[in-house]
Amino acid sequence: MIELKDVRKSFGSLEVLKGVTLTVQKGEVLSVIGGSGSGKSTMLMCINGLEPIQGGQILVDGIDVHARGTDLNKLRQRIGIVFQQWNAFPHLTVLENVMLAPRKVLGKSKREAEEIAVRQLTHVGLGEKLKVYPSKLSGGQQQRMAIARALAMQPDYMLFDEVTSALDPQLVGEVLDTLKMLSEEGMTMILVTHEIRFARDVSDRVAFFHKGLIHEIGAPEQVIGNPQKPETIEFLKSVL
Ligand code: ATP
Ligand code: MG
Repeated sequence: MIELKDVRKSFGSLEVLKGVTLTVQKGEVLSVIGGSGSGKSTMLMCINGLEPIQGGQILVDGIDVHARGTDLNKLRQRIGIVFQQWNAFPHLTVLENVMLAPRKVLGKSKREAEEIAVRQLTHVGLGEKLKVYPSKLSGGQQQRMAIARALAMQPDYMLFDEVTSALDPQLVGEVLDTLKMLSEEGMTMILVTHEIRFARDVSDRVAFFHKGLIHEIGAPEQVIGNPQKPETIEFLKSVL
């Protein structure tokens, strides 16, 4: 379970998260929508301890992410994160790229790491691309490689930050299909996305972010299908 309790986060004098409270249960898929600059990416960075917070608390399975003494490296192994773009190592093959973290971070043997990487790459539909270099992949394939790389750490949670927004429209579907597959397998996910229809389709709950706060949260049929707050209605009008 991921719990945020009245989380406050500032960059200098700019307060970006103004008291965010949120619980994501094991197996739940939460989509986060909202305007540019509303704090969505910042929240993900705070959840896996990439950014400090100035107030409140974030607990991952009861472990306080920002407490002194928390082993952040260990924690991050359990929380995979995939961004809009990931710069793979160009001189390593797809397989070698995905093997890297299990080898270096989890200390797996070469054989074990290869087995994990092949399994995850096959899982995201890249079983034919193991020996290829990343530059030879399409944008959608590169994003699936990034997902496989995160999954190779065998995380309990996955955070996705607009993983389709840098893609040509015809490549978006294949990446969304991969996310959908993960959700159906029971992966606990927080998904920042501009793909409103997809969010509606795949999420257990949707959170609408506005000016550093969760403005509206609930079932997709509610927040997307029948939003109550004027800001939510306005936002959805602008993106749908
Ligand atoms: P988008 O939809 O455009 O990705 P977002 O909701 O993800 O927006 P954030 O990236 O979380 O928004 O940014 C929230 C605010 O914090 C913005 O005003 C941004 O300029 C600011 N911000 C983000 N990262 C930093 C940083 N490292 N230093 C200073 N300000 C930052
Ligand atoms: Mg963002």
